[in-house]
Amino acid sequence: MDGKALAAEIRAHVAREVAELGHVGLATVLVGDDPASHVYISLKQKAATEAGIDARDVRLPEDASEDEVLALVGELNDDDEIDGILVQLPLPGQIDEPRVTGAVSPPKDVDGIHPVNAGYLYLGTPLHVPATPAGCMELLAAHGVDPAGKEAVVIGRSEIVGRPVAMLLLQANATVTMCHSKTADLAAEVRRADIVVAAVGVPGIVTADMVKPGASVLDVGLTRTEDGIRGDVAPEVADVAGHLTPMPGGTGPMTIALLLRSAVKAARFRRGILAYPSF
Ligand code: NAP
Repeated sequence: MDGKALAAEIRAHVAREVAELGHVGLATVLVGDDPASHVYISLKQKAATEAGIDARDVRLPEDASEDEVLALVGELNDDDEIDGILVQLPLPGQIDEPRVTGAVSPPKDVDGIHPVNAGYLYLGTPLHVPATPAGCMELLAAHGVDPAGKEAVVIGRSEIVGRPVAMLLLQANATVTMCHSKTADLAAEVRRADIVVAAVGVPGIVTADMVKPGASVLDVGLTRTEDGIRGDVAPEVADVAGHLTPMPGGTGPMTIALLLRSAVKAARFRRGILAYPSF
């Protein structure tokens, strides 16, 4: 499942939507010096700018206080030029992440992790959805894999990948199993799966003997090693799987494309083109 090609299509579509809307503003907030976060923010900024989005790159130093970050988020919430806000995680240790992500105005929460957006996803009526899970669903759809009636096994239960992708698969009528570090027999769970989403961060944790022949396997986990980037899925899985995302070039590019789509959705929410519930 070629994420690069599909992401390029989605980004081209987003660019047309941005042109139609006239202006879409996205602010990314980067706090501190985490090298991987710097790479992700530059990729997101570049992609947003290429799609015609007015991308604002806001940075605070490593020793920024929680109050400073909250004040910045508050300013961006009130800023009429900004439709969407993304706070890059992880935040430095002195900052309480849930307090910050919970301070983002829900219609502007393009990452879909505010409790209101997570709640709507849980209820089966999603508004903003985290980009990586949304990208997984797009990859399945583009390859004609309908989750309805299928066994889906998600490995990992983070708020940004595992839980939301499990909810999206459930909404698409898969029978979903969620695995995590305390799962007694991971191989036995994965072996039943028609769809596997691996979002762990342990290179090669999904091996060929664990995968049902013909299964669709989405590799989300990403680990930088001396030999380059490694996914959670061992390369030999390609001999068994029906569909497999490459690493890199699979779920990563899709994450960026779906973030841009979320920014367009945020602009539609703010203009009332799409309804966002009020409280
Ligand atoms: P996370 O918050 O660290 O979650 C990892 C999950 O894996 C946890 O739920 C953990 O279980 C589970 N886990 C750990 N060891 C396990 C084991 N031996 N067997 C089964 N489950 C195990 O990470 P995340 O933010 O979800 O990210 C996961 C990976 O995806 C990372 O490598 C990250 O870099 C990558 N990622 C990639 C993209 C992309 O676009 N491709 C986007 C986001 C993240 P517990 O809950 O029990 O601890």
